[in-house]
Amino acid sequence: MVVSVFRHRVVCMSEFQTLASIAADVASGRTTARAVLDTHLARIDARETEVHAFNLVMREQATAAADAVDAAVKKGDAPGRLAGVPIALKDNMCTRGVDTTCSSKILAGWKPPYNATVVDRLAAEGAVFVGKTNLDEFAMGSSTENSAFGATRNPLDISRVPGGSSGGSAAAVAAGFSAGSLGSDTGGSIRQPAALCGLVGVKPTYGLVSRYGLVAFASSLDQIGPFTHTVEDAAILTEVIAGHDPMDSTSIPQPAPDLVAELARGVKGLRVGRVTDLPEGADADVLQRLDAAFDALAAAGATIVDVTLPSLSFALTAYYLIAPAEASSNLARYDGVRYGVRVPAGDINTMYADTREAGFGDEVKRRIMLGTYALSAGYYDAYYGKALKVRRLIADDFARAYSTADVVLTPTSPTVAFPFGSKTDNPLAMYLCDIFTIPTNLAGHPAMSVPFGTGRDGLPVGVQVLAPTLGEATMFRVAAELERAS
Ligand code: GLN
Repeated sequence: MVVSVFRHRVVCMSEFQTLASIAADVASGRTTARAVLDTHLARIDARETEVHAFNLVMREQATAAADAVDAAVKKGDAPGRLAGVPIALKDNMCTRGVDTTCSSKILAGWKPPYNATVVDRLAAEGAVFVGKTNLDEFAMGSSTENSAFGATRNPLDISRVPGGSSGGSAAAVAAGFSAGSLGSDTGGSIRQPAALCGLVGVKPTYGLVSRYGLVAFASSLDQIGPFTHTVEDAAILTEVIAGHDPMDSTSIPQPAPDLVAELARGVKGLRVGRVTDLPEGADADVLQRLDAAFDALAAAGATIVDVTLPSLSFALTAYYLIAPAEASSNLARYDGVRYGVRVPAGDINTMYADTREAGFGDEVKRRIMLGTYALSAGYYDAYYGKALKVRRLIADDFARAYSTADVVLTPTSPTVAFPFGSKTDNPLAMYLCDIFTIPTNLAGHPAMSVPFGTGRDGLPVGVQVLAPTLGEATMFRVAAELERAS
């Protein structure tokens, strides 16, 4: 069993082409976008039934897009940086005329009238969208077991979860259904599934990537980012989707950063922070890989420095007040009138109540109740107000740490991929999956997960690289060094 999982992982790593080389081959005419797509569709046909990465496979649209890329190449037009690269999109990103469900019954049949900005930016570079991926309903969860359409399985070991909430996007890349994908990360939903599926996953600085057309969960925390096999591929996708967008009022008015150019620079002279008061909870196999990552960076010329982040242990509590508070407000719009399904009733209040009762799953209802309570007149200061103060303390802690360190390294997930159903009866156990990823969302900083060897049962372990606001260039340098070392 151990050996077969391990062997399968090695096969996966070597079997799939990077998106950088796909784009180069398509642009140079060595292959066609259509041939690349057919290879990926064949893999979908072979394994999607067991993996369930997708809510929708966009076969016809993808074929038309691939043919358009091939026609451009034939004519001699520049086909874009992502020429013919099959990309999967988390199903909470708006795609014009194509179902966008958030894996919720309440959005059944809803087709957005516009594209998310990230969708347009990828398309403009020649990307081919293969499908919309499964997620925990409205991105609330850490295992993709909260989907109204059934769970997604981890392609490396189908008895285990892929992580969540962007589990479908992670599984699509890990299974070779797409060469890259986009997820959204509110408290860890890109980084944690990346770690559990052996992928690179990036949560950019808040405001670096436009949220226009991303269905809102917690607006002050949500950020879109990529899943890929390599750090270079992640740098390419981040460069393509980043940069100012006037359609998002929280978008940073700056062009996208240069990241690919940073990857070969090495880490000589960089100061890498080791958190001496890291919250407990990580398994020994994960901590062992973190130690190995520090050793690798030190061997490559970085200086390891101790930092403390004393407020980190309160981050989870603050997040589970702030995120549900924002969610309770954002999800008020699903009222049976404006989107998706309606349960008809004799009066409007009963119609609202019956629609929401039938349309939302248990976890979404739990968050709405938590959030409504935290925002209620009598408890606002005691809960929501207090959580905002903790959020400030966490940002202050990071500011202090980044005065002596250029980046900080922590585990991404406290464990490797866990078996189905092992945390579904215990919401708190599920929430603890994000103990190391949530603090950066609260601070608005960037962070990414890089595969760094294997832990228990031969399953992948991710190391998380954290950086200050707009510190992506340094973060990617460190990630590239970890990739070289592993
Ligand atoms: N698992 C966390 C939650 O359930 C984070 C989810 C996310 O990042 N979208 O809220």
